[in-house]
Amino acid sequence: MQGWTGKILRINLTKKKIVTQEFDANFAQTWLGGRGFAAKILWDELKPGTNALSPENKLIFSTGPLTGASLPSSGKLLVAVKSPLTGGYGDGSIGTWACVMMRKAGYDALVFDGRSQEPTIVKVEDDKTEFLDGKDYWNLGTFETEKSLKKQYGSVTGVVAIGQAGENMVKYANVVSQEGRGGGRPGIGAVMGSKNLKAVAIKGTKELPAADMTELKKLGLEGYRTVLAEPNYKFWKRQGTMSTIEWSQENSVLPTCNYKEGVFDGADAIGGFAMEKLKVSQRGCPQCNMTCGNVITDTDNEPAELDYENVTLLGANIGLDDLKKIAHLNRLCDNYGVDTISLGNVIGFIMEASEKKLVDYPIEWGDFEKAKVLTEDIVYRKGNMGTMLAEGVRHASEKIGKDSQKWAMHVKGLEITAYDCHTTPAMALAYGTAASGAHHKDAWVIGWEVKYGRESYDEAKVDKIIELQRIRGGMFEGLTTCRLPWVEVGFKLDWYPKFMKAMTGINITLEDMYTVADRIYALIRAFWVREFGNKWNRNMDMVPARWFTEPLTKGAFKGTKLDQTGYENMLQLYYKKRGWDQRGIPTKSTLATLGLQDVAQQLSQHVQLNP
Ligand code: SF4
Repeated sequence: MQGWTGKILRINLTKKKIVTQEFDANFAQTWLGGRGFAAKILWDELKPGTNALSPENKLIFSTGPLTGASLPSSGKLLVAVKSPLTGGYGDGSIGTWACVMMRKAGYDALVFDGRSQEPTIVKVEDDKTEFLDGKDYWNLGTFETEKSLKKQYGSVTGVVAIGQAGENMVKYANVVSQEGRGGGRPGIGAVMGSKNLKAVAIKGTKELPAADMTELKKLGLEGYRTVLAEPNYKFWKRQGTMSTIEWSQENSVLPTCNYKEGVFDGADAIGGFAMEKLKVSQRGCPQCNMTCGNVITDTDNEPAELDYENVTLLGANIGLDDLKKIAHLNRLCDNYGVDTISLGNVIGFIMEASEKKLVDYPIEWGDFEKAKVLTEDIVYRKGNMGTMLAEGVRHASEKIGKDSQKWAMHVKGLEITAYDCHTTPAMALAYGTAASGAHHKDAWVIGWEVKYGRESYDEAKVDKIIELQRIRGGMFEGLTTCRLPWVEVGFKLDWYPKFMKAMTGINITLEDMYTVADRIYALIRAFWVREFGNKWNRNMDMVPARWFTEPLTKGAFKGTKLDQTGYENMLQLYYKKRGWDQRGIPTKSTLATLGLQDVAQQLSQHVQLNP
C-alpha cells in the first residue's frame, strides 16, 4: 500500500503497553483517514454508554494520506474522542508539526486508552515510543510545556499538550500546539487530562510513503504557486479570517451579547482593519503558504493570535470592543488549553443570566476584569460558578433553569460558533446537522446563503448543506488537510484527486471521496444514536429557541427571526436526502448502500431501525 503508512500506534496508558497495528488498503480506501479513521475506531471499539472521562474512552490522533506532504496547507491533525461535553462523537482539527512528524515516524494514527497512574508524557521517535515522567509538567500552561519539551528533544519535535483546563477536565478543554493552534472543543483536552497524559512529543525521520514522490513534489510546487497567484491571496495574507468581522457586521450575523443581536456597536474597533494597525507578525500551520494567524500584543505586551472565531466570541458576544483585551483573553485560553469559542459562549451566557438577575453573580457586558477572573475560576473549577460553568452552557442552563435553556446557545451540548442565525435558516440547519454539534467547519453555508437569499426555506439550501458537508466535513476532514485554500482563495477542488493519485497511486475521484464522506456521516450519526438509544429524537438536531422566538431588535434585519415550521421542513428534507428516517436515523438500506450492514445490525440492538 502506498500513500498511507498502514500503521496505527496503540498506546495503553494503564499497562504502559505499545502495539503497532497494521491496516490494509481496503480499510484505507473505505475510510480515507482523519475523521473517517476516528469514527470507525470509536464505533468498533467503544462500548455504548462508556463514560467519556473513564480509562476506556479512546483518544485518537489521526491523519490522512495527504497530511504532512509538501502540499498546500496539509499540516493538520484530527483529534477525536467520545465527547464528555456532548455525550456523542467529538472531534477537532489543529495545525501542528506533530502531524507532520507523526507521518514521518511512520504512523497514520495514534490511539491512546487506559489511564496512567501518574502524569505522563508520551514520546514517539520513529520506531521507539517511551513513557516519560510528566509530574514536573503538571500545572504548567501549554506554552511552557511545549517550550520545555522542545528544549530537551529539539526544536523540530511536534508537541501537542493540554493546559490546566485539561488537567481539571473542563468539559470544553482542548489541546494546543505551537502557542496558539488549538483544537478539540468537545473536550478532547479533558479526555487527555482524565488519562493523566500531559503531552505527546513526536519526531520522525522517514520519507512519506508516496507512490510517485517526483510527481507529488512537482504538483505541490505548482499548487503553492497557484495559491500565491490567486487574486484574493494578498488580502487574505493581510487579514486572514479577521475580515469576516466586517462581513458579518454588514450582514447582521455577528453574534452579539450571547446571540441576542447580529450587529455590534463596537465592530469597527475589533475588525480586520483595526487588527492590521496592531499586527506585529503572522503565524500558521505547517506546510501552509497562506498562514492566517494574526499576532498582536495583548494588554501585558505579550504576543497573542487572533482569528474571526476567537475575536467574535470573546469580543462581540461578551460586549467587549478592545482588541488588546480580547487578545489577552485569547492568550489565557491558549495557555490554559480551554476553547475560546465555548468559553466566549459560556461567559456571554452568564453575563445575560446576571443581567436578568437569575444568578447572584454581578458581571456586566464587556467587563474584561471579571471575564479574566471567571476564566481562571472555570479553568481551576473554583467556587460554585467556576465549577458550574466548567461543564458548559447546556449544563449551566439546566442548573439555572427559569427558561434560560431558550438562550443557552448550543446544539447537542456543543456551544455554537460565530454566526448568528436569526436571519439564516440554512446556516442554522448546518449547525443542527453538523457531525459533532454546532460547528461551522462541516458546512459554512452562510456565505452562499446571504447571496442566494436568506428568506427562503427551500430544497436548494438543503442540497447546498449536504454538498458542503461532503466536501468540508467528509473530504477535507478525511484527507486531513485545511479547507481554507479552497474556501478563501479559490484553490480548485480538482487538485485533490491529482494529489491523491501521486500520493497513493490510485485514481480516487472527488465523487469517490464524497461517497466516503456519506459513509462517515452515516457512521457518526449511528454513533450518536447508539449512545442515546431510545432517548434519541429529532429535537437533537434543533437549534436554540432564541432564534425562533426573539426577533433581532437592531440593524437592517430588525424584527426578523427564524420560522420554526420552515426549519423543521428543511430538516425533514435533509433526512430524506441523506436516507435517514423521520427521527434522523439512517435506514437499514442506506447503511447497506454505504457498506455498513454490520453497523445496521448492531444499531438495531439499540433502536428500532426502519427498512
Ligand atoms: S490557512 Fe490558516 S488554518 Fe489553514 S493551514 Fe494555513 S494557517 Fe492553518
